[in-house]
Parts: sequence; C-alpha cells; structure tokens
Amino acid sequence: MLPADYHMHTPLCRHAAGEPTEYAAHAVAQGLPEIGFSDHSPMARDDFDNWRMYDRQLDDYVERVQKARRDHPGLIIRLGLEVDYLPGHEDWIRDLTARHPWDYLIGSVHYIAGDWAIDDPSQLSKWKQHDPFEVWSLYFNTLAQAAASGLFDIIGHADLPKKFGIRPQQDCTPLYDTFLQAAQAAGVAIELNTAGLRKDCREIYPAQSLLERACQRQVPITFGSDAHAPGEVGMDFPAAVAWARAAGYRESVRFEARQRRGLPLS
Ligand SMILES: [Zn+2]
Ligand SMILES: [Zn+2]
Repeated sequence: MLPADYHMHTPLCRHAAGEPTEYAAHAVAQGLPEIGFSDHSPMARDDFDNWRMYDRQLDDYVERVQKARRDHPGLIIRLGLEVDYLPGHEDWIRDLTARHPWDYLIGSVHYIAGDWAIDDPSQLSKWKQHDPFEVWSLYFNTLAQAAASGLFDIIGHADLPKKFGIRPQQDCTPLYDTFLQAAQAAGVAIELNTAGLRKDCREIYPAQSLLERACQRQVPITFGSDAHAPGEVGMDFPAAVAWARAAGYRESVRFEARQRRGLPLS
C-alpha cells in the first residue's frame, strides 16, 4: 500500500489547476489510501506575493476540501496548510493556524533574506548574485528556526535550494545537522517531496545524505507529491518509498487533528 500524499495545492494559490475533488478522484484511481491538502497559506499582507490564497479565502479553501470529502467518502482526506515560515511572523502564524481545526501544518521556507523566494523562477537571476553555499547556509539556518518554532508538524521539501540544480561545492552535512538537531528536539517530521524529480535537480527532496542523518535521529517522515494538478497526485511514490527505505526508514507517519501515528512502509 502506498503512503498518504500530504502535499497538494488548489487553484486558490493562483498557480495550480483542478478542484480538490478532482485531486481526490485521481488519488482513488491511483489506489492511495489517504491524502491531505496543504495549499499555500495567506500572509499577513495579501500583496506580499502572488502565489497564495488571499486571507479572505481561507474559509472557501476549507469548504472545497470538505466538498472533496463528501464526494469521496471512501478516501481519508486531511485538511492542512503549507505555511511560509518567516522569522518574526510567529504570532501571525499562530493566529492563522488557530482559525480552523487543521490535521497538520507543513512549515516551508521559500523566502530567505526577506523577499527572495529561492524557488521562484522569476527571481532566478538572484542566484547569480549569491554564492550557493551562502544561500544554503542561510536557508538551513532559517529551516532550523522553523523546526524549533514548534508551530509545525512537518517541514516541507527540506533541501529546496537545489531546485534549479545549483549546488554548493562545500560539504553541506553540517548544515543538515543543524536543522535535523532542531527537528529532532522539536519532534517535527520531514516530508519526502517528489516534486524535485520534476525540477532541474531531478532528485526527491531531501537528498539521501540528509535523509540518512534524519533516520539516524529518528526524525519521522511523511510523503508529498506537491501536486499542482490532479494528475500529479501520488506521482513517483514508489520511488519515494524506495528513497526512504534506502535511508533506513521502515515507517512513515500520518496525522489527524495534529496527532501523529506511525504506519509501516510496505
Ligand atoms: Zn513549497
Ligand atoms: Zn507546495
């Protein structure tokens, strides 16, 4: 049996296609037992960027997920959010996440140094102005803060800076350890995100060396396709399960009302 797919988007984020009920239908067709939605959460300011739902759409988002539940009673459908972690925004995130009974919250770092979304193709030129190792250092320090904040159940796509295939020459394992130490101490899970296979880096997030170190620290894992269209639900999950097993994992975790339970990897 395939693990749950906990990372998928909706058209409310303005760069995904298909209604939640269509994602659910594809999950059923793929034989997935469980899915969860995790669309990009609002920011304190609606004009912060243009790739997330507006604050006033949060109830609409929840309603669309509930419609998918009504349409597919045989599929377990969790309600989550992918929340951008920005240092200093903790109180806003706490208020936001108190507005609905979420099953889980994915904390992701897309922004470093304020306004640079490192995975945004329209900001790709900024990579030329920065040393990759400096970017990775800043990113993993912020990711460690996200893990330590206690605000999240899962940390999303833990080595996102590799997206465009730009990688530092230096050994990054000390950066991984800083992050994983924080994840372990806070009891937060990390996700295996198969979207990396569809990007220039051609590799699941996170890298095998990060995942092995996570396994040694018994940091739990979830799985996510990061689907932005119904056809991407559950994409490359057999490869992701193999990636997890190669790092030493024998179970993944699922969430309901922010409570975690283990499930053996098959
Ligand atoms: Zn993301
Ligand atoms: Zn995402």
